[in-house]
Amino acid sequence: MGLKSKFMALGAFFVVAIAAVGISCVVAPEKGVPVLAYHMIAGDDDTYSVSEVNFEQQMQYLKENGYTAISLLEFAKAKKGKFTLPEKPIIITFDDGYDNNYTTAMPIMERYGMKGTVFIIANNIGKEDYLTLEQLKDWQAHNMEIGSHTANHVPLATLTSDQKKEEIVASKLLLEWKGLNTVFFMAYPFGSFDAESEQLLKENDYLGGLTGKSGLNTFDTNPYLLHRLNMPNPKFGLTEFKLRLLKANVYTRLGL
Ligand SMILES: [Zn+2]
Repeated sequence: MGLKSKFMALGAFFVVAIAAVGISCVVAPEKGVPVLAYHMIAGDDDTYSVSEVNFEQQMQYLKENGYTAISLLEFAKAKKGKFTLPEKPIIITFDDGYDNNYTTAMPIMERYGMKGTVFIIANNIGKEDYLTLEQLKDWQAHNMEIGSHTANHVPLATLTSDQKKEEIVASKLLLEWKGLNTVFFMAYPFGSFDAESEQLLKENDYLGGLTGKSGLNTFDTNPYLLHRLNMPNPKFGLTEFKLRLLKANVYTRLGL
């Protein structure tokens, strides 16, 4: 990205942020569960990487502001009346299955009483920079959750019906055959999905799917099209994190 377009992107971010602050003054407090979408927790030289320091600040902020991290399964159970949601629930997710989710993010989350869900590319387990099977088993032993991010990290909407089915079914079975807990959720790679992939999830014992569409989630939200909040490298530190949380609230209220 050139310098000029970078500044334009920053400008656009602040316009949305300022609008969000303005609108939030006239709407009631948030109702619905935010789902945060992280990738790497490593250096801060990549858009998709949040530094250890920034991530810790964010977890600390959530704790100090009364948020309780829940799993996606707990959210699904709450919808059926089998789990009581805490006062300010939040779901923390990581896409792609990088090993730093385990080595760096997990200890920080635990320090602040948080937990998270990692979406695994089933065929990447144990490859360089990705989580190993042992790490995934220990992740679960720490009360963290595992979901599918397909077998090969492909945009589902571009595939044939057979390929879609293969990615959705094989990834779930691969993870379960390796001895991991039953997989109930999928994060759509690149936010790419269509009606057919949604139907395939339903037919193959998934309880939900996660998009990249911004907003909060209520019991009325289609569980196969859950909203998430992208959490890139925050160029403006904690202020940016707070504004991103706020933006989800506003998007939900405006029905965007
Ligand atoms: Zn991905």
